[in-house]
Amino acid sequence: MPEAHETVLEIDLGALAHNYRTIRSKVPADVKFMAVIKAYAYGNDSVSFARKLEELGANYLAVAYIQEGVRLRAAGITAPVMIFHPQKENFEQLIEHCLEPSLYSEKLLREFIAFAEEKKQKDYPVHIKFNTGMNRLGFAEKATEKVFEILRNTSAVKVHSVFSHLAASEDWKEREFTLNQINRFRSIAQKFIEEFSYEPLLHICNTSAIFNYPEAALSMVRSGIGLYGFGNDKNIDANLKPVGTLKTIISQIQHLEPGDTVGYNRTYKVDKPSKIATLPLGYADGIHRKYGNEKTGVYIHGQFAPIVGNVCMDIIMIDVTEIDCKEGDEVIVFGNVQHATRFAEAGNTISYELITGISQRVTRLILEEEQ
Ligand SMILES: *Cc1c(COP(=O)(O)O)cnc(C)c1O
Repeated sequence: MPEAHETVLEIDLGALAHNYRTIRSKVPADVKFMAVIKAYAYGNDSVSFARKLEELGANYLAVAYIQEGVRLRAAGITAPVMIFHPQKENFEQLIEHCLEPSLYSEKLLREFIAFAEEKKQKDYPVHIKFNTGMNRLGFAEKATEKVFEILRNTSAVKVHSVFSHLAASEDWKEREFTLNQINRFRSIAQKFIEEFSYEPLLHICNTSAIFNYPEAALSMVRSGIGLYGFGNDKNIDANLKPVGTLKTIISQIQHLEPGDTVGYNRTYKVDKPSKIATLPLGYADGIHRKYGNEKTGVYIHGQFAPIVGNVCMDIIMIDVTEIDCKEGDEVIVFGNVQHATRFAEAGNTISYELITGISQRVTRLILEEEQ
């Protein structure tokens, strides 16, 4: 049950199952599925998501950092876990917990091999990342020969997958660029297969690419945002269900007279008798100041109420003059995907940032799948 701070992020594992099955159905059944649950499963709850995804049949889980993987293992998660951005300082824990590193630079590759050799490892599972245009992490295409040479000289590691990441798979204007990334990746993968005479898992698709470039599913796809209900596109959103609903209640209703103002620095001034409701959440919960001053709003009994005045650390004020409501009534900050997407856009950001930003102060309430 929610605690005294009565704002909860309700998490619907039934919606997660629906989204998993929907995304999975877009690619052939033999394509493996990596569920991306970094950053607390995009601000939800990594352990309950990992358990559910294992049960649903996800082949791989992925997180960004080693500590996130350690937390999954501590909770009894046994699925293969890939670490996108491992740090050398934690290699010991990585091996101890059978976590699989993404190796993306010559320095990291050499460091990991040296460590694995020192620990007397044989065929330790690793993943090699190539940069095909994102220009973030990854070996350059021209480093291929060098990578092969380093790998050839050790038996401490075995490449389980070769992968790359798309820069703009949700953007149709960048279709040519994306197709070029995919082609470059295919050619790198082909070189690997020729060199080592076996085919590791090959993957380049994130959620948007699974929908927009299903022919590039190769042998595995990686999905994050879609599992949480967001498809980066209205038509795709329509087939997915929101996993997280941020709910709160009205703490108090203030009755204002014309000329009265609301909140710090008096940025909202009413010109008619008005009703202002205060909500027990603020920027410390992840609803940042950028969402204040009527940029966006919340829903009460299905009716829209704008956020007015500056967002405070622990409190938000909304104008409910036109809404029949009372103290204690339920308020939906976001849930519906269309609204959550617009909410994020109003703050000049994307769904990813909105949902991963809901702070750990907010109680997570996990609803199991309805049978
Ligand atoms: C976060 C991440 C993903 C997931 O992308 P979505 O757009 O959320 O599906 C996939 N691959 C890598 C390398 C990532 O960092």
